[in-house]
Amino acid sequence: MPNSGYDIIQRLGVTPIINAGGPNTKHSGSRPRQEAMDAMQAMSEVFVNIDELLLAAGKEIATLVGAEAATITSGASGGLVVQAAAAVSKGNRDVIARLPDTMGIPNELVIQKAHRFVYDHLYLVPGTRFVEAGDESGCTAEQLEDAISDRTAGVIHLESPFKNHGTVQVEKAAEIAHGHGLPFLVDAASMLPPRDNLRKFTAAGADLVSFSGGKAVRGPQSTGMLLGKPEWIEYARMVNAPNATIARAQKVSKEEIAGLLAALRSFVDEDEQAETQRYRREMESVVDQLGEIPGTAISIEHNYDHYIPHTVIRFTDSWRGPDGPGMAARLMEKPPRVYVVSGYIGPREIWIDPLNIQPGELPTVVARVHEELLRASSGN
Ligand SMILES: *Cc1c(COP(=O)(O)O)cnc(C)c1O
Repeated sequence: MPNSGYDIIQRLGVTPIINAGGPNTKHSGSRPRQEAMDAMQAMSEVFVNIDELLLAAGKEIATLVGAEAATITSGASGGLVVQAAAAVSKGNRDVIARLPDTMGIPNELVIQKAHRFVYDHLYLVPGTRFVEAGDESGCTAEQLEDAISDRTAGVIHLESPFKNHGTVQVEKAAEIAHGHGLPFLVDAASMLPPRDNLRKFTAAGADLVSFSGGKAVRGPQSTGMLLGKPEWIEYARMVNAPNATIARAQKVSKEEIAGLLAALRSFVDEDEQAETQRYRREMESVVDQLGEIPGTAISIEHNYDHYIPHTVIRFTDSWRGPDGPGMAARLMEKPPRVYVVSGYIGPREIWIDPLNIQPGELPTVVARVHEELLRASSGN
């Protein structure tokens, strides 16, 4: 019996990391809340019909977050596959059965070109294709409107850091989609907190919004949820696992379902102001301790692009060391390895995200970042 996670990875020869880079899947997502782990253990004792459990869990999620309806998916990315499949099939069992064959039915998804992102191919799983509106720098309402045709199955929309500048905003885009009788489908996977976002995008008109359960909600890593209109949640449920559909490989276990519910309950109950203040105080102590380092400008940012207070370390023109990804690589080179955000919005900065920094780890994060910044700034 291993006594700790460290025993397990030590036996495997895997080195731990301190995660100061946020809930990134490749770096283990986030730490599931104790409530979620307890609920998963407890749920393993019973057998149920998964359809019945999913229906009841969807109702509970809707109540918890103040949505009209909800269902559970395998991560937010599983939710994107399900959104697209729902848009194409709209509850038609014959169509559901033959996806990804979309021959003869509207299969185009309109997307603002500035919203193209690394996970968007999930939207193409059910035999769909993109029609892009606007260009990399943005999109106008007219351009979005013009991209819609009788082959369009839905309009998709991304809410994500650094992706909503110069684009058609959520209310207007929803209005355009609905003006053509089309579903408006939102990926807001990482937009929690603020908890207000649980209602914001559905209030703005979204038919389905996909959120991650394994990021700041701190449910099981593999979970996600769709919130939206009852009709569209039902279409989504019909194309989703456990049914033998295009999304069958995206199953979520009863333990994961119970884990997400417990995590979400705890997430919505948390005092967001107190949580934010706690993160801000931590980041203030980081900034204080890093002090002045030649060639850097260090600040705390908390806004649309930074879901909780982050320490942002920018490299100015006088910086003599490696770029952001280079510095991040140095921090991972030797133990204690520290993972920070880099390369996300260009090569000139790294971020410290407090979400996954465990009690007692902050001094190590500060010491390692300070050490590597000083070494690099002196040209070594
Ligand atoms: C994280 C993220 C996803 C994937 O979410 P998972 O829950 O990890 O599947 C999809 N889209 C965006 C914009 C994200 O930030």
